[in-house]
Amino acid sequence: MVVSKRSRCRVRWLVLGGAVAVAGAISLDTGLQLAACRVPGPALVICVLSVFTTLTAAGDVLADALTTTTYRCPVPGCSFRARLRTTDPGALRRGQEAAASHPIHH
Ligand SMILES: [Zn+2]
Repeated sequence: MVVSKRSRCRVRWLVLGGAVAVAGAISLDTGLQLAACRVPGPALVICVLSVFTTLTAAGDVLADALTTTTYRCPVPGCSFRARLRTTDPGALRRGQEAAASHPIHH
């Protein structure tokens, strides 16, 4: 399936925006629950920021998974991958060739 670059960018920004919104809401809820339990301020801030950071990072991973093309080396046991965000057919072909012909398989 051919997906335009503009469409991939739109999906990426929608996923990232959604992740930030969800992370903000959950972080706020976590902060309110911890404040109700009289958790000290510095610990509360650290917890809220860690929840926010973890959820936004998960959104970034999801956005990458939805908007990149991954070519894996065809050699069994080799973990080499070429991940491309472009939609240019020439660049995708070069990425596919690079995944198939890199010098050291590991
Ligand atoms: Zn390989």
